[in-house]
This record gives sequence, structure tokens and C-alpha cells, in this order.
Amino acid sequence: MSVTELFEVTDKVDQTDLQLGADGRLRHLLTMHGLDRRQITALLDEAELYLSDIGQPVIRTDALRGRTVANLFFEPSTRTRASFDLAARRLGADVLNLDVNTSSRKKGESILDTIYTLQAMQVDVFVVRDAQAGVPAYIARHANDHVSILNAGESDVAHPTQALLDLLTIRLHKGDFENTTVAIVGDIAHSRVARSTSEALVTMGIKELRLISPKSLAPEDGTVPLQARVLHNLNEGVRGADVVMALRIQRERIGNIDGVPGIDEYFANYGVSHERMKLAAPGAIVMHPGPMNRGIEIESSLADGPNSVIPEQVKNGVAVRMAVLSTVMKSRATT
Ligand code: ASP
Repeated sequence: MSVTELFEVTDKVDQTDLQLGADGRLRHLLTMHGLDRRQITALLDEAELYLSDIGQPVIRTDALRGRTVANLFFEPSTRTRASFDLAARRLGADVLNLDVNTSSRKKGESILDTIYTLQAMQVDVFVVRDAQAGVPAYIARHANDHVSILNAGESDVAHPTQALLDLLTIRLHKGDFENTTVAIVGDIAHSRVARSTSEALVTMGIKELRLISPKSLAPEDGTVPLQARVLHNLNEGVRGADVVMALRIQRERIGNIDGVPGIDEYFANYGVSHERMKLAAPGAIVMHPGPMNRGIEIESSLADGPNSVIPEQVKNGVAVRMAVLSTVMKSRATT
């Protein structure tokens, strides 16, 4: 990131206005904030159309034929980047994966100059991941009108497509949200997944949402929905839950590690394990957004066991990203 570049801190209301066109349709996907139940349901319904069984041919359409999608990942990514790439190709788009280590941004080119350069090559959609808050909205505010920006992970603030794939996975297993209790366990303070997924679950009317963490990794006031119950005891958090999601400790975002429990202590108190899952509701599923630290936030054999839906989350991620890409492209057709 160019040191001379300053990003305005964009508040939630502002982002909501920015991501919806004048007709209320999705022009960019920056945040789950401001998306209503109907819009989220439409995205999940469309994503379901793109699912096929593992081992079967994938679903393809030509909804994005003649379009170009650029992946700009200024932070590491395996799943999100690969699945946006596959999603765009399965919709018939050309895909550009910018190598950020050799891009001119390293030479000090501003991110907007990078965007303007790629716009001149007729890129239609920018998929952006950045360690700094505000970058996706900043680009959305300055890009050409016909271009869409998709947030693929923004600092500790938002990861909306992860929220959508989590919701799709829960809906496929639990049927609805109103009768489901979800426990999210781990580094809630620094997790963009916890934020976006919580926000979306509350919008969908989740029965109960519990956020469980050590006190040193608890969310600050105002960063998670008021409806969430913030807890520090894992047994209490997991008891009767239908869904248990473990999160990685975001070491790259923790300035001062003092007070964060060491590995053994962490696993003993906050590791999601077979033993803990005995407290959960019968048929409870285990989730994790990846990358996993086996033996720290999750017991390795549990992650590979029959209650784990972690590989399904990854599969659903491609379908959800296809739905988001095709939705923003359709809304553009009417503007
Ligand atoms: N992959 C998720 C993210 O980008 C979770 C993580 O990194 O721990 O936020």
C-alpha cells in the first residue's frame, strides 16, 4: 500500500448506500450491513442452483461471457481467491489474477491508478482483499459507474461472501434460521468472519447467536450485533447449539499478544473438540472458515469427522460467489 494513500473510514450507512443502486439492487458487495432478508435469500437461492455433487460435472453458464473479473488480493488467500477465480470462469468470464508481489503497487503506484489501468483493459468486476479497512468502499467510490467491487476480506471489518457461504451451509443442514442456535468460538475481536456472519445471521432471524472467546479476544462494544450473546465459557456456549463454528486466532491483526492464552491453554479452554461437541444438540454441525490450526482451535479428527461440514463450506463458497457475480452483473444491466 502506498504510504501516501489515505482511506476515508467509511461508516456502515454510507457503505449500504454505496453498494445498492438507486433501484435498490446490488451494485457492489461491500458489507452484509443493509442487506435485507429478501436480498440474502435471493443470493442463497441462486447459489443453490450452482451446486452439483462432488465427482459430477460442475454447473456452467455464460452469464458473464465477454466480461472480465480481476482478483486483487493484497493479503494472503487460498479458498476465497481460488473460488472467485473458479466462480467467474464457470460463468464464462475472463479472469485476471493480479500478482500483487510484482504489481506496480509495490513500486508505489496508488491503488486507484491500478484500478484505472485495469478499467482501461475493460475489467468489469474487481474482487478486492486488503489488510486496511475502507479499501473496497474507497475503490467503489472512485471506480467507473459500470464497474462492481466485491469485498473478499477487509481487515477485521467484513468478509461478506464468507457470511453468505456460511449461511448457505447452515440452511442446507438446518433448514431454517429461526430454529437454529449458532455458537461461534475463538478470536471474535479480530475476525471479519465473525462480524459479517453474525450480522447476516441476525438479519435472517437466527434463534440464538453466541460468540465465545477468552476475555482478551472478546469483541469491542458496537462491533457485533446487539442480539449476540457474548460468552467466555465454552461449555456454556456449546450447550444445545446446532452449529459450532471455530475461528483461527488472527495473529497478524493482534498488536499486543499479552493476555492471549498460549496454545495448550487455548485448546484446553476454547478448542472445539469431540468432548465439547457432546454438549451440543444432537446432529450439530462443525464449521471453520479456514485456514485451520489443527489442535489449537479445533481437534484435528473432529475437523475430518462426520459432523464436520468444512469441505462443504468450501464447495458452497464457489456457488455463492457465482451468485454474487451474476447478481451484480444483472443489476448493472438495468442501470
Ligand atoms: N479465511 C478467513 C478470512 O480471510 C478466516 C481466517 O483467515 O482466519 O478472514
